[in-house]
Amino acid sequence: MKKLSILGSTGSIGTQTLEIARNNDDIDVVALSAGSNIGLLEKQAREFKPELICVYDEEKAKELRVNIADLNIKVVSGMEGLIEAAVIDRADIVLTAVVGMIGIRPTIAAIKAHKDIALANKETLVTAGHIIMKLAKECGVKILPVDSEHSAIFQSLQGNQHSRVSKIILTASGGPFRNSTLEELQNVTVEAALKHPNWSMGKKITIDSSTMVNKGLEVMEARWLFDVDYDKIDVVVQPQSLIHSMVEYVDGGIMAQLGTPDMKLPIQYALYYPDRRYLGGERVDFAKIGSITFFRPDTEKFKGFALAYEAGRIAGTMPTIYNAANECAVGLFLDRKIKYLEIAELIEKAMHAHKVTDNPSLEQILEAEKEAHECVKNNI
Ligand code: NDP
Ligand code: MG
Repeated sequence: MKKLSILGSTGSIGTQTLEIARNNDDIDVVALSAGSNIGLLEKQAREFKPELICVYDEEKAKELRVNIADLNIKVVSGMEGLIEAAVIDRADIVLTAVVGMIGIRPTIAAIKAHKDIALANKETLVTAGHIIMKLAKECGVKILPVDSEHSAIFQSLQGNQHSRVSKIILTASGGPFRNSTLEELQNVTVEAALKHPNWSMGKKITIDSSTMVNKGLEVMEARWLFDVDYDKIDVVVQPQSLIHSMVEYVDGGIMAQLGTPDMKLPIQYALYYPDRRYLGGERVDFAKIGSITFFRPDTEKFKGFALAYEAGRIAGTMPTIYNAANECAVGLFLDRKIKYLEIAELIEKAMHAHKVTDNPSLEQILEAEKEAHECVKNNI
């Protein structure tokens, strides 16, 4: 039996994880959590009968408590509650699918409680990778990637020696604006940016995919997950989203993982690793696809992508500034308070204003987050 706690069960990754739980009777969902969507949480509670639910919003938690009074489920709230869901005794694996840096503290708590982590919440690794990976090693805990590119790399590493890796090649779809000019990007609407060509995901990551900041975050995520230098991480645009990423070895051989774009595969692989379970759905028909094409990412047009390598190489608190400025700017763009290209400009301004602290503690990371948010707000 897999005993699973899900952080962010109402989101895109969370609901797909529950689909997997629905199709496999050896997954026991022991805890659920979300920000405020108590309507969906109630449905999930009635179907999966968890022991604990955390609703981050305290008022909504009170409401849910009343609505599910007929079930024997403890309902908690706030950061304390989220941590309670992350360390719940009965769970042996925690799937982290909240969006943003809010995931750092519960992830650290879960590792300290010796839970394996199925990690979707990339912002946590980008900002606190040095703390998380070290702690996971000390606690003998597995960090299993859920992000499709990182799952592909992880799958391509199986059975090979890590010391023989010469390069990691992350693939990118290029997003909805791959063929747009910089001029056209000036007036991108929220609706246009939310239309991803290949994947259906939460709003924040969909915007990040359109700006290619998502790929930038994934470069930093790969740096921590696979312990490689930035010089050894390449990105190639592959618009069909068929090759999910690749690993090149010292003999020039390249291992890749391919498949139709479906997040359920990487989620399921993380939950059952090293086993592979049956998963329904469309199969790749190469002859029907005809061709796979490759392009170099346009770093002029997607400045936010180039800034990620800069932030990652500077290290210390800089990736936190990059990430937190982006989280804040994307929120402002979704609220129609700033223009599309301002997202990257605001990240750059926050990075320039920042004085780096090396090897930051959790407190220093959270301080840097605040600084980035203030800097973005002062610059609009
Ligand atoms: P969604 O926006 O769809 O879902 C986010 C989830 O987090 C929701 O359950 C939401 O609850 C919950 N949440 C938000 N704020 C809080 C909070 N303060 N406390 C507790 N829970 C909270 O995001 P995605 O599922 O798309 O993405 C989740 C993570 O996975 C991100 O880090 C993303 O980068 C990563 N990822 C996602 C992929 C995808 O295909 N979607 C692919 C690869 C990585 P509520 O519904 O109540 O707001
Ligand atoms: Mg990805």
